[in-house]
Parts: sequence; C-alpha cells; structure tokens
Amino acid sequence: MPPQKLVGYARVAVERAVDRSGGGLTYGIPEQLADLTAGERVIVPLGRGDKPVAGYIVQCLDQPGADIPIGAIKPIIRRDSKAVAFPPALLELAQWISSYYCAPLGVTIASMMPAAVKHNIGTVTRTMIDLAEPIALGEKLPAKQRALLEALAGLPADQRPIEMHDLLHMAGVKTAGPVNKLRERGLITATTRSAVEARWAEHAVDARVPDALTPMQQRIVTDITRAFSAGFSAHLLYGVTGSGKTEIYIRLIQQVVDAGKTAMLLVPEISLTPQTGGRLIGRFPNHRVAILHSGLTAAQRHQHWAMVESGDADIVLGARSAVFAPVPDDALGLVIVDEEHDHSYKQDQAPRYHGRDVAIRRAHTAGCPIVLGSATPSLESWHNAAARNDWSLHRIPERIPGMKLPRVRVLDFLEQRKARKDRGVHLIGPVLERALGETINAGGQALLLLNRRGYANYIACPDQNCGWALTCDHCDVTMVYHRHKTLPTGGFVQCHHCEAQTKLPAHCPQCQKRITTFGLGTQRVEEELHRKFPQLVTGETMLRLDSDTMRGSHALHEALTHFGTGEIKVLLGTQMIAKGLDYPNVRLVGIINADTSINLPDFRATERTFQLVSQVSGRCGRSEQPGLVIVQTFQPDIPAIRLAAEHNFEAFAALELQQRHACGLPPFARMARLVVRDRDHTKAMTRAKDLTRVMIELVAQIDQNIRVRGPAPCPIARIADKHRVQIEIMAPNAVTLQKLIAAGRSQGYLHSTADLVIDVDPLALL
Ligand code: ADP
Ligand code: ZN
Ligand code: ZN
Repeated sequence: MPPQKLVGYARVAVERAVDRSGGGLTYGIPEQLADLTAGERVIVPLGRGDKPVAGYIVQCLDQPGADIPIGAIKPIIRRDSKAVAFPPALLELAQWISSYYCAPLGVTIASMMPAAVKHNIGTVTRTMIDLAEPIALGEKLPAKQRALLEALAGLPADQRPIEMHDLLHMAGVKTAGPVNKLRERGLITATTRSAVEARWAEHAVDARVPDALTPMQQRIVTDITRAFSAGFSAHLLYGVTGSGKTEIYIRLIQQVVDAGKTAMLLVPEISLTPQTGGRLIGRFPNHRVAILHSGLTAAQRHQHWAMVESGDADIVLGARSAVFAPVPDDALGLVIVDEEHDHSYKQDQAPRYHGRDVAIRRAHTAGCPIVLGSATPSLESWHNAAARNDWSLHRIPERIPGMKLPRVRVLDFLEQRKARKDRGVHLIGPVLERALGETINAGGQALLLLNRRGYANYIACPDQNCGWALTCDHCDVTMVYHRHKTLPTGGFVQCHHCEAQTKLPAHCPQCQKRITTFGLGTQRVEEELHRKFPQLVTGETMLRLDSDTMRGSHALHEALTHFGTGEIKVLLGTQMIAKGLDYPNVRLVGIINADTSINLPDFRATERTFQLVSQVSGRCGRSEQPGLVIVQTFQPDIPAIRLAAEHNFEAFAALELQQRHACGLPPFARMARLVVRDRDHTKAMTRAKDLTRVMIELVAQIDQNIRVRGPAPCPIARIADKHRVQIEIMAPNAVTLQKLIAAGRSQGYLHSTADLVIDVDPLALL
C-alpha cells in the first residue's frame, strides 16, 4: 500500500491496556478524514499485525509528539460513523480519571459512555397530559374533548400528569385529535417525557411540599445559595436521618433550574432509593429529569443521555455513572451527592473510580458548588470539612419538628439466645420477639435487618476433634447453605464469591458423622418468623428482600411499593433495606446481629458497622409515632455500636479519627492497593515480589515517607481459582501517591489488567 498523505496527527485512546502514559497513541490523519475532531470514535491499526481496533480521538495536533518517530506513525483507518462521539467537555475529566485511578484512557472513556450510546440504539418518548392553569371547565366543548377534560379533572392530583394513551382509554376516545384540540384551546398541557420518566412519575408518591423550611434548613439553604456565585465550593451537609436533607436539595435545585442551569443529583443505587427519585420528579413536574442508572434498557439509557447532551434536561438524577452525564460544563450549576458515605459509589472494575470524588472534580472544573449529604459522613469527608478551607460543614443534629430519633436498645445476643428454654435455634431473641408482636398488633410496620443472605453460612462436622468444614473448591472461603423448596434435596450450597454450587453433603467426608449447618442467614430468620408469627405470610404480609429474592431493580421497586401500601407488616432483608427508606408507619427496626462484619480484616469495619446501625435505625420513627430500634450484638460495649445507639456520630468520628491518625491510616494517608492474581500460587508470589521491589526503589526516588507493605496473601487468598497477593501502599498525601503511580506507570510496571488490580483509594480490602 502506498504511503498515505497525512494532513495532521491525532492522539487516539484505544480500548486496550497498551497505552502506558495514559495520553493516547499517536496516529496520522489522512486527507479524506481532515475534518475529524476530538471525541470522535475511529478505527485504527494496532500492533504488529495492524489489527483494527476502536478508539476515541482525545486531541488533534499539527505536529506529532516526540514519543514516536514520524516514519512509524500509522494513519487512522476510518471514522466509526455509526458511533456517537464522546462529549469533548468530558475529555479532561476522562484524562484525570485515567491518571488518578491508573486506568488506560481508552478503557476509561469507554466506561464513561453507556453501551447503548456508543452503539447508537434508538429512543422512544411518551406524552404526559395535565390540566392547564388556571383550570377552566366551564367552556362549551365537543363531546370527545369534554369527555377527555372531565376524565382528566376527575383524577386525584397525585395521578396527574397522565400518559396520553391512558387518558384516551379512560375517556373512551380512540384518536389523539381531540387532545391536540384541547391543547390548542390552552385547556391542557402536554409534555414529552421518556418512558422512564413516565414510569418514575408514577412513583412520585410524595410530592407534598412542607409549608416552610425549618430555621435550620433555611439557614443552610441561604448559606449554600450565597456560595452559588463564587465558583467552586464544597459543602458537607451532615444531618441525622429525617432531618430534612432531601428538602434542602430540592430547594437548592429549584434555584439552579430557575436560573436556567442544570443540577445533578447522585444517589447510591437508584433502584434502592426509588423514593428520592419519585419525590424529585413529583416536585419538578414542569422540568425534564434525566434518569441514568443500570436498571434501564439500552434504549432508555441512550434517550436520557441524549436528553442531557441536547441541553433538554434540567435535572440529572442517577447512580454513580450519572456523574458522566454530558452536561456542558458552563450549564452545570450544582452537583449533589446524597448518602455520600455509601460504598456503592466506588466502581469495582477499571477504572476503579469513586463517584463522589469524581463529582467533586467535576464541580471543580465546572466552577460550581458541590453538596455532599449524609447522616453518617465518611471520615474522609468529615476530615476534609474540618481541615480544608474550601469546604464548609453544615449540621442538622435533630429531626424535623414532630419527628423524634428512635430509642435504641442494645442487647447481648448471647444472653438473648440463652434466655430460651428449648435448644432450637433462635435468632430473634425474646425482647425482639415481644416488640415485633406488639408492633404488628398495633398496626405498625417493622424492618428486620441481617446482613447475610442464605440459610446458614457454615456447614461443618459437629465433631470438634474432626474440625472439617465445607469450603469452596475454587475459593478460600466457607460455603453458604440456601434452602430451596422446589429442589428434591431441599436446598443447595453456594459460594458467594464465585457462585459455584454443590449439593449439601449428608455426612462428614472425614469421619462420617452427620453434617450440621450453623451460622446466620436471612432465610433462617424468615423460617423462624413463620414459626413465631404464623399469621405472617410471605408475599402477603411479609417480604424477604435480598439479592436472592430481588432480581433486578424492577422487582425491588415493586416490593417497596407493596411495603408502602401497608399490607406488608414485616420487611426482612440485608443492607438493601437500610438505604433511605422513608415510610412513616415503620415503628420498629430489629437488627438481628449488628456485628456480622466488625471482625473483618479491614480498617473500615468499625466505620461500616456504625453506618449500618445508624442508617437502618433511621428508617423508623418518621412520623408522630415514636420509633424503637432493637440491636442484638455479640459486642454490646464497643463504641461503634454504643455511639450509634446514642445517635452520636460526632463522638464516633472523633474517636475513630484519633485511631486512624495514630495508625497512619486514611484519611491521614492516601492508599493504593495492588493485587496480583494468578492460577499458580508461586507465579503470583514471584510477580508480587518483583513488583514490591520496583515500588520500593521508586519510593526511594520519590518520597521516603511512602510505606510499601507486602507482598502478602489477600485476606481471601484465592477467588475463582486465582491466587491473590497484595501490596499495600500508604503515602502521606495524594500528590506523592500520584507521583509514585505515574512513575510506575510510565516505566511500564503499573498497568491494570485482569491479573493486576490497581486500586487507588480502595474501599474493598478483602
Ligand atoms: P432526610 O433526607 O434528612 O432523611 P427528608 O428530607 O426525607 O430527611 O425529610 C424527612 C421527612 O420530613 C420527609 O417526609 C419530609 O417530607 C419531611 N420534611 C422535610 N422538611 C420539612 C419541613 N420543613 N417541614 C415539615 N416536614 C418536612
Ligand atoms: Zn468460590
Ligand atoms: Zn468429621
């Protein structure tokens, strides 16, 4: 092939791990592609065989960089004309993520766009009809129009706007013509909404507007509003559960949209917090809300993304990845991260970014304020708010007047179990059992939390001298027993790390004694509930909510709606039920065992326990009815539990920060975790040793204060047949850590692949 004439050069980020610097690879722009611009998706030749691969143009250049000889530059093959371009406004953010989280730029860009957008999958909209203001019913109208108008006016206010076809059906009208006539007469309004918005609008149960903000809410709204004109500022809103944080968000968003700008609200996992979404949509009926989360179909995601990019969305609502919504930077007026402490903001595959921290970066670039809200702020944010000048702390230590924080009783789990005369298994102690009975009889609702699914997490030989326990063939963990009525065996055994399943063995393979299953699981609590409260029927008056029963966000949505109607008396579940539920009739929360994860080898285990107990406690007492929380725990005296029971976050934070400081742990240090994975244990160890040596050499050049620990087997030393060896790096601050990572990366030692995990600011340490 004769050499092509090049009219320019471009940096292209390919979706492969080959890109060491993170700035893209250099290619030539042939004459016929002279109009290429940054953000476009192109096909380029890669490697010796010139394999065509896709990538995004990150920069167009007149001259190539010095990193490659001119003669070696290959031309771009073609533009991917079917693909949607990556928004150029987000390129800088992509570059920051790629370098901060040490992930290939092409992989980062690819993960910032929903697959449906990349592949340009189509879109659908719906028309929502409402009465126009002022409502005029007196006019003389043709029969069909009158029927439509009367059907519409007959609807309760919370069921409007209504989807056009539903209205036609209700009024017995077959065509849309009369609707258009009514619109021309100015009697109704019609708004185009996507199917997703329309569905969420159905859940806009709580569009009630409080008469007035409390003085505390008002002061915070005023303070944050004052910062609107000052460019970037960060605000930590620490308010106990039920203190009216969501109402503050709504008022702030109102001001942003009134000013013609776009507001972004991130929530942990939107399907787990349908109420926040419903409330927001209910309160902004005349604004377009783009909803971005993993539960959408491909087409829906694309549609909402397009709505943002075209400037049609006033509000962007979504989980972690919504932080990448293509709002032009000059249109972004406010970013809010609700439940900022939630670990689901951290992505567990490359790029391993933290949605909250990316949101801070984004607000910074856009020059707008960011508000982080929580009843249990992460110690990182709490520390920032205290230590940094550009952060402000806003406190609401009390609930909305009329609502009191619940009384919390902490009970020794062992004593509760001993209090039983019979020898059966009792996970629900006598105090909790009595409180449950009273709550149900009084017409209240209860939540029961156990952060472990399945029936029993320990399958073992009853003979202690034998000591056999069933572990996974592929992972170094014990397996969990799940009951399953429809199976002839009555259940199966599963590994919660690799999903492998086997049958429950009847006898110990070593000594032939009959196997026993023990430990905790939500299924076992469900069984016990039925024994103790025969009137509770699963699916009618009781629901179990964990990832085994709730497949997909839709199921969860339905379950919560069902709970909201009040028919369900008891909702039993894992931490899924701890997040943001706001149901006024919940009068009792029972925590079956609060310390299931406190002994994990993870320095955040205490913080997590505090958060879980506080958050789930916060689900009750959300009306004039007082709430009661019963916490069963093996460790009733530890501060995490004692202080959560006293609703004393600030004392907990002070204590925990003191210990972190003494041990040189985050937030007083910046951490990175490297995990080498290999099927062969020796190979994994050897590679980890080499990597440790290299890192120690780099540390000597960069900053002696960086500590490198390891290599050591991970707490879970093998998952899915791969051995895992970790190296932990603690740097005095983010800048030094970044220097070390950049050096390791440019010298070719740190590139994230399937066999080397690079996790900056890691949350998962097992
Ligand atoms: P949080 O987000 O802090 O848990 P919410 O914003 O959900 O708190 O408020 C808790 C409850 O109090 C909600 O039902 C909300 O409608 C109500 N509420 C919020 N602000 C006020 C107010 N100023 N006056 C009366 N009720 C309020
Ligand atoms: Zn396994
Ligand atoms: Zn045995």
